[in-house]
Amino acid sequence: MSASSAAGANHPTVKLLINGEFVESASTEWRDIVNPATQEVLARVPFATRAEVDAAVGAAQTAFAQWKSTPIAARARIMLKYQALIREHMPRIAKILTAEQGKTLPDAEGDIFRGLEVVEHAASIGTLQLGEFAENVAGGVDTYTLRQPIGVCAGITPFNFPAMIPLWMFPMAIVCGNTFVLKPSEQDPLSTMALVELAIEAGIPRGVLNVVHGGKEVVDALCTHEAVKAVSFVGSTAVGTHVYTLASEHGKRVQSMMGAKNHAIVLPDANREQTLNALVGAGFGAAGQRCMATSALVLVGAAREWLPDLVARAKALKINAGIEPNTDVGPLVSKAAKERVLSLIAKGADEGATLELDGRGVRVPGYEEGNFIGPTIFSGVTTDMTIYRTEIFGPVLVVLNVATLDDAIALVNRNPFGNGVGLFTQSGAAARKFQSEIDVGQVGINIPIPVPVPFFSFTGSRGSKLGDLGPYGKQVVQFYTQTKTVTSRWFDDASVGGVNTTISLR
Ligand code: NAD
Repeated sequence: MSASSAAGANHPTVKLLINGEFVESASTEWRDIVNPATQEVLARVPFATRAEVDAAVGAAQTAFAQWKSTPIAARARIMLKYQALIREHMPRIAKILTAEQGKTLPDAEGDIFRGLEVVEHAASIGTLQLGEFAENVAGGVDTYTLRQPIGVCAGITPFNFPAMIPLWMFPMAIVCGNTFVLKPSEQDPLSTMALVELAIEAGIPRGVLNVVHGGKEVVDALCTHEAVKAVSFVGSTAVGTHVYTLASEHGKRVQSMMGAKNHAIVLPDANREQTLNALVGAGFGAAGQRCMATSALVLVGAAREWLPDLVARAKALKINAGIEPNTDVGPLVSKAAKERVLSLIAKGADEGATLELDGRGVRVPGYEEGNFIGPTIFSGVTTDMTIYRTEIFGPVLVVLNVATLDDAIALVNRNPFGNGVGLFTQSGAAARKFQSEIDVGQVGINIPIPVPVPFFSFTGSRGSKLGDLGPYGKQVVQFYTQTKTVTSRWFDDASVGGVNTTISLR
């Protein structure tokens, strides 16, 4: 991490959002935000001080008193306005996103769009936050539930979807009546901040949404702050496990969505053309830096013969800066990320896997300084190899061969991660067996990246998720609300009874 101690006079600075004001941090620790295709410094982001974190949480706590009783339709209307503003500003924000993160412009628009869908969903909070009612559970007694907001919620987001993932969190938390403190990725907070500005423009009141920047210290301060009631985290398994443990120990409810090794299983009866195209797109799109990227391919039986065709298609992808038209694969987010992926590729070769396609050493004219690695494919991979056990988070696909669908299911279920998986087949019976027996959160049947739309919730198994309730959909309304169960009886003079010391209500 290239943190340094001076704000730097020549670059714009990223502001904190505290109590409705975009303010300059007083921090002495700052980090450059760097265009991964050019190494141009775009801006500098502060690592907020403890006093600034306290001020943000304090503002959220104060704002909660009024926001929690704002009528539900008034909250929903802000989301309606917000979704319109996001739509209007999508091309501008996509350019910011591509500049700071590296993904292609159409993919940056997709990143924003998948978040926009959550904002649209948030606008239907009126029906999502309904309680339940049962009449006459005992003589003259009714029971009903209230779904009430819980208070100050915090969100910690990763670099790879700087639009979608913040939008998974604060719109749903806020529309449920909570207030929020967001800690975006320190690697690419500019597009997140552009979306935050629009949220304020849409009418989110002072103190209801706050933003602090930083790394571990800020995250730990949020996870341990007395006034924070819930923490939403998306990022790597190591950090997510730390956040889950720390925040849980401090009495918060926590949802932690973490790392992945997403398998695609190909049966020989699959539609060859569609499957190979899907695999190449899901393996190398966004330079493999999607939590749902296909990173391990399991070829079952005769499907092993498809490998040369797959390699040929991967070889044909265009590697270039994300801003250039027709780019398929952009740069990795940072020099450090590139070095890490290069060392894992070297490790794969050392451990005996066969490099079918080597993306190292790729040169992109006009962007010689970019963090590029071309599509890379290893065959002959075994489950004990580092490249199989580790989330590489780069354009690297590892290929394994098994004899049967049962073998493939057992292999996937033994992997430490359980985020996403795809099965490619034309057999309904195989697909049904697969969806029943596989222990992975997102299951695709002839779908390589099965990210659920916002009426459902994102989920995960094993090392990919901690906590019960996932982001967006119905589950997140449960996460961001406290259920209160009311049992009530209204006396009328005609039904006066005597003293009753038993538990029965009658
Ligand atoms: P990361 O874990 O490095 O960072 C995530 C957040 O945690 C950032 O805001 C960062 O500032 C903070 N952080 C970093 N180190 C910390 C520490 N030691 N203590 C406390 N906080 C810390 O993740 P990343 O590299 O930004 O994102 C990539 C990872 O996110 C991948 O593992 C990917 O699979 C995962 N991811 C998962 C999902 C999902 O839904 N399961 C979605 C997107 C990304």
